[in-house]
Amino acid sequence: MPFSSLGLSPSLVKALSLANYKEPYPIQSQAIPAILTKKDVLGIAQTGSGKTAAYALPILEQLQHKTKSKNRFVNVLVLVPTRELADQVSEVFKQFSKGLTEPVKTMAVYGGVSINPQMMALQGVNVLVATPGRLIELEENNAVHLSEISVLVLDEADKMLNLGFKEEMTRIFDLLPKKRQNLLFSATLSEKLDGLNQVLLKDPLVVKIEAEEENIDLIKQTGYFVTEVKKGPLLRYLIKHNDLKQVLVFTSSIYSADKVVDKLKKNGIDAMAIHGDKSQEARKDALHKFKIGKTNVLVATDLISRGIDIKFLPYVINYELPRSPKDYIHRIGRTGRAESPGEAITLVTEQDKHHFRVIQKKMGKWVTMIDSEGIDLKGF
Ligand code: AMP
Repeated sequence: MPFSSLGLSPSLVKALSLANYKEPYPIQSQAIPAILTKKDVLGIAQTGSGKTAAYALPILEQLQHKTKSKNRFVNVLVLVPTRELADQVSEVFKQFSKGLTEPVKTMAVYGGVSINPQMMALQGVNVLVATPGRLIELEENNAVHLSEISVLVLDEADKMLNLGFKEEMTRIFDLLPKKRQNLLFSATLSEKLDGLNQVLLKDPLVVKIEAEEENIDLIKQTGYFVTEVKKGPLLRYLIKHNDLKQVLVFTSSIYSADKVVDKLKKNGIDAMAIHGDKSQEARKDALHKFKIGKTNVLVATDLISRGIDIKFLPYVINYELPRSPKDYIHRIGRTGRAESPGEAITLVTEQDKHHFRVIQKKMGKWVTMIDSEGIDLKGF
């Protein structure tokens, strides 16, 4: 089914073809027609499923046919849990707004950066993508008014609840007009989320996309038994010896992410860290350099990695194991997307052995293990 049969204007269909979106992903073919008829939607879908375009496209279409709000009265509010996702989502809106006959202004706002430029730039914004805390601050300062919102989107709603944004979210809901369309996206369903659904959604269309589990078959998974002291040399060996490009390395803490980057750099491997202690500018810079291939290795913690979409990521290395099997699948699910096969490598110490078995069991797949004792790590 082509995009043109979903009810989108020719200018949007053209923008889609310029972005090389050939056909709608399942979440898009199901959600777009429903959103266009102003139905509420509950989408159970992960990053990578195409959920952003699934709501951005019909929202842009709707904005073409209505009188848009003026001044600081925004039309559409997209709430997201992290700064990275805010930037990512607003980029999608901006990308598809380019050829529209009726211009649409999108802006992302989040904490951790100065509020004044955001307050000034909010004039004339139609689509506001925001993290909850900063949105409340802006509203309290009269920099934005939410009383004319016609569509509310909650993206990664489960993560927003997990990060403790419930109270802020409830405060925001109280500021919105009662009559509006609600679109809620979440990677998982939970009891907490159920509460939210019931408050927000009226007779929603439910779209459920199982994305990541299917992807696992595309990924070549390997594990290396290694001692704690040889982890660093083994990591460098794997990158240098195999001349790996675009490697995402996961650590379990901020401290160890910085340490790994330090060591890689000292050994002539270009690397940057991305984690919660870095400023917004530093995170953006690291992600950008990694995406365009200027930095070969990005070292990340789990919290930061969630929700970031990097196309065609060929290698993920688990320098340290994640706590949960779900996080393991989430990490390695970043490779093997869009039909490009990826490789996931996991370093396993004696202490990790039991935990890694639990992860494999939950995943329902056994990983080929190699003993690094047999590898000559001298000089790495
Ligand atoms: P998302 O789940 O919204 O983060 O999207 C995942 C990735 O898929 C993004 O890089 C999008 O640019 C890409 N994408 C989304 N929909 C399509 C489509 N229909 N065709 C090709 N790429 C798409």
